[in-house]
Amino acid sequence: MNCNDCQDGLIDFAHRELESEVHTQIAGHLTQCADCALEYCRLQADLHGIAVAHDDDAPGPHVRAALRARVAATITPPWWRRVAAPLRRPIPMYGAVLAAAVPLVVWIATALEPTEPRPTPPTSSAPTITHYDATAMPNVHREVL
Ligand SMILES: [Zn+2]
Repeated sequence: MNCNDCQDGLIDFAHRELESEVHTQIAGHLTQCADCALEYCRLQADLHGIAVAHDDDAPGPHVRAALRARVAATITPPWWRRVAAPLRRPIPMYGAVLAAAVPLVVWIATALEPTEPRPTPPTSSAPTITHYDATAMPNVHREVL
């Protein structure tokens, strides 16, 4: 490994984000090259200085807890949606099975219905027509005179 390759990977090396083979190569180069080792020490100092300088800027744990609670309240659905969630899941042929079951349910409901005697037509006191033959020829064509 040459110095350019080593110094290009120093930041990732410092954050331990390299593959183990490349990490081992850079570590080996740092043990043999004073320039790259000095560059690595400067980088570590800079990273440490940045971390210390911004340590006070970080919000306290109460801010993090409040933020987590607010995000959880926003993301978590209300209890009625969580209860109804299994019913709203797409189930294959769920609707078709329900639609096919409707005639069966209707048939069972009508079969279990108690049979009542058919109501007799109401008897009325209206006059009824008797001695009428609808097959007889009407008297319309009878010669009057
Ligand atoms: Zn070097």
